Amino acid sequence: MCGIVGYFGKRPAKDFLIEGLKRLEYRGYDSAGVAFLEKGAQRGSKASKRWKIKAIKALGKVAALQMKMEGVFVSGIGIAHTRWATHGKPSERNAHPHIDCKGLVAVVHNGIIENHRELKEVLEKRGHKFRSETDTEVIAHLLEEEMSPSGEKRKVGFEEAFVKTLKQLRGAYGIVAIATEDPEIMLAARFSSPLVLGIGSGEMFIASDVSALVGDVKRVVYLDDDEIAVIRRDGYVVKTLSSRKREKEELTLEWDKTVAEHSGYAHFMLKEIFDQPKSFADALRGRLILEEGMAQLGGLSAVEKRLRSINRIVIVSCGTSYHSGLVGEYMFEEYAGIPTEVEMASEFRYRKPLLDRKTAVIAISQSGETADTLAAIREAKEKGALVLGIVNVVGSTIARETDAGVYCHAGPEISVASTKAFTSQLAILSLLTLYLGRQRGLSLVMGKRIAKELEQIPKYMERVLAQAKDIKKLAKKYAKQAHYLYLGRKYNFPNALEGALKIKEIAYAPAQGYPTGEMKHGPIALIDSSVVTVMIMPKDSVYEKNVSGMEEILARGGKILAIATEGDTALAKKATDVIFIPKTLEMLSPLLAVIPLQLFAYYVAVERGYDIDKPRNLAKSVTVE
Ligand code: GLU
Repeated sequence: MCGIVGYFGKRPAKDFLIEGLKRLEYRGYDSAGVAFLEKGAQRGSKASKRWKIKAIKALGKVAALQMKMEGVFVSGIGIAHTRWATHGKPSERNAHPHIDCKGLVAVVHNGIIENHRELKEVLEKRGHKFRSETDTEVIAHLLEEEMSPSGEKRKVGFEEAFVKTLKQLRGAYGIVAIATEDPEIMLAARFSSPLVLGIGSGEMFIASDVSALVGDVKRVVYLDDDEIAVIRRDGYVVKTLSSRKREKEELTLEWDKTVAEHSGYAHFMLKEIFDQPKSFADALRGRLILEEGMAQLGGLSAVEKRLRSINRIVIVSCGTSYHSGLVGEYMFEEYAGIPTEVEMASEFRYRKPLLDRKTAVIAISQSGETADTLAAIREAKEKGALVLGIVNVVGSTIARETDAGVYCHAGPEISVASTKAFTSQLAILSLLTLYLGRQRGLSLVMGKRIAKELEQIPKYMERVLAQAKDIKKLAKKYAKQAHYLYLGRKYNFPNALEGALKIKEIAYAPAQGYPTGEMKHGPIALIDSSVVTVMIMPKDSVYEKNVSGMEEILARGGKILAIATEGDTALAKKATDVIFIPKTLEMLSPLLAVIPLQLFAYYVAVERGYDIDKPRNLAKSVTVE
């Protein structure tokens, strides 16, 4: 998720820690902090000195942290973090590094510890006092517990305690830790969240993203899952969790700084499109109960009873989030049997919406700050509806003002044109469908099918992304078109809107999204041989209807770029061009079909030479009316 850097060497750690955090700033974050070892006088004795941990944290920018560190002498061993909150609001208290009760260890962590609640309960029973609301803090207390078990004299070394701690964690993590008991080592571990070692001469570096190391080192080593690194001033050893040594390949870093900023991608938008298999998996993490065909949504536990009694859902949102809401409408009605409406928040707030206690209003917003959506939920609350949020940014205003909600855990989205937030919202809407459906009539068999298929989606997404080169060629072919038409039906009608929105936003191309069935009622007048119509037509319950729509366009000399199910050779023969997506459940097909639309818009905009990450006139988070 966010940023980690660490330094162990001959220089004061401060220089690299601050610089490294700054290099990771582009990822977006809400707070920053450092911890380092320093020699301090032992209480009651002037003579003997022992190591202690010093931590400095700041809410907001790295520059604020840097100011707080002015004049502070920092030793040669330290760790630092920029946090992108997943558990607990952005605050100085929740910022990393986290420290145990006795001040033995300091820990920075990227990712989510799924079983943090269970672990915290046990640790609290043993007397540990928690200072933050984060999932991360359990790691520090577990380490403390392992190093000096409460009520026992026995002491366990830092490295052994670290391994024992890791074995208790479930979820995703990149962790770096330092300990007063062993100032000669720094320990790191990864599972599903990247870490890379940088090898200097007489100094070692670590970071969650190689872009933090560019300029300081030439040789790097990437950690793999379930590996730990024991880092010393002048070298490192990588081991497995069973303490077996691993020979690692050292790579030469050839990137210059500009490339590194987007982790090798030309733009944030492209990076975020490619992030989707991972961000989607992150949205599901710890929430899917496969064997029960059910979703476990901690954020809704407080309103679980009330949710059983609701008989209507109103989704309010704007832009891309409005489109995910439209997919949600189809899902909720088909599988949970709850009448659902979706409304643009900017309209909702100025009508007199009819709401009551049996209505759940669901606000969807990436930033959680969208002014129109915020006004809509305030109106809904006033009217006594149950108000829920599907939000990406933890602790944002919408997250705070809703009665309950589910976070998307998509990680920071920097590109103004939203991509991975959309698929994460669809992940949450699918989970919510399971949750509400299983509370009502959805069968165990169907629940299990959906849950199992959801797990496959990241793999399918990879297959779509592998066609990026072909999509780029198609974008080149069609980049000069005066306007674009997007068609889809049922679950993929919202995708037609989303495809059109993307190309409007970044390629400044006039574009329209329509349900295929509406063509005859007007837009077909636009068709001639100069227009390519992008048709989303996977093999689903409306496939034949889409094929008829396609024939009508072809008959008028129009061209068709079809998004079709793998193996649909009959369609491939008819359409002018085709991009294939893997077969999946109809309700999940928008998750795959949207990726070619995102890539197509992106490559058309590249072809036209526009500023992809900062499109004209647009803002990332629309906090004004
Ligand atoms: N889950 C942790 C927290 O909320 C880590 C977040 C991150 O990856 O920045 O503090």
